[in-house]
Amino acid sequence: MIKEERIEFTAKWCKYSKYIIEKNNDKYYILPDKNAKPSTYDPFEVRNQILKDLLVIGKESVGNEIFKLGNKELSTEAQSKMEKFQKLVLEFVNNYGLLGTFRYLPENYDFMDNADIPVVLGYNKVMTAKEFEKSYFWADTKMDWSKTMKANDYQRNAGLDDYFKQTEGDRLDDIIFSKNYAETISEIIDFAISIYNRKLVICAYLYDDVPDDIKEVYESSITSDTLKKTNISYGIENGQIKFKWNFMSLCAILETILLLNETSGRTEVKLCKHCGKPFIAENIKAEYDTIQCRNRENINKSRKKKNNYIE
Ligand SMILES: [Zn+2]
Repeated sequence: MIKEERIEFTAKWCKYSKYIIEKNNDKYYILPDKNAKPSTYDPFEVRNQILKDLLVIGKESVGNEIFKLGNKELSTEAQSKMEKFQKLVLEFVNNYGLLGTFRYLPENYDFMDNADIPVVLGYNKVMTAKEFEKSYFWADTKMDWSKTMKANDYQRNAGLDDYFKQTEGDRLDDIIFSKNYAETISEIIDFAISIYNRKLVICAYLYDDVPDDIKEVYESSITSDTLKKTNISYGIENGQIKFKWNFMSLCAILETILLLNETSGRTEVKLCKHCGKPFIAENIKAEYDTIQCRNRENINKSRKKKNNYIE
């Protein structure tokens, strides 16, 4: 096999200069501040940092007492009401923008043209178009919510009419970059957990002393993951042909960043082998986030050896 040269990927995502938390129908949402200014950035330029920051949210959530009580849906809902998680998620969104789950979750987009077609969110989950739209665009006070959105409501929310005109910049005419677009804190935590769990399974699979039968379980879990909606095309910049990804959501970008992190032969974002904390490895061979963790693990190992000897 030919070892590939490092490919430079490019993608664009939009974020606002400031996001706020608002409560609506007993749920906590994050949306752009009224006076916030939009801008675009390339998530691949900060890929280690964004992946690590998302993994931290996932680890905090899974490690939280409420999560250990059981029901995942209830616990992320409960966590979204806690100050600690609100702060953590708001900080993530202020740094990287919202996830774009409005585009990421549906398996069909026909509902945008025909409101009678339900939104399919998975094998067992189907919603009416109105229910779905309202959960992301309730902040649109001009919208008559007795009906679903029409083409001109989408246009207005995308900033294509004078009233809602947004400033210049790539992709700002996309509806998920509307100032009316909001995501719940719990759905962002949910996504962080799903990425964290994937990372955890990959780490566990690579762990040295895993029995074969368990390795098989991990293997089938890893290989059954399929990335959703990766729109790949050629991009040309300054006469150079580039690998261009037209992502429709930050979720899809993050899934891809994790995949590249695990398959490039240079895993830079890792989970500490002792405490499990996500960290960016400065040395590719590093297994622990701090010297303390490495020392503690060495002590554990030597104790284990001693015990084996006594037995
Ligand atoms: Zn550690």
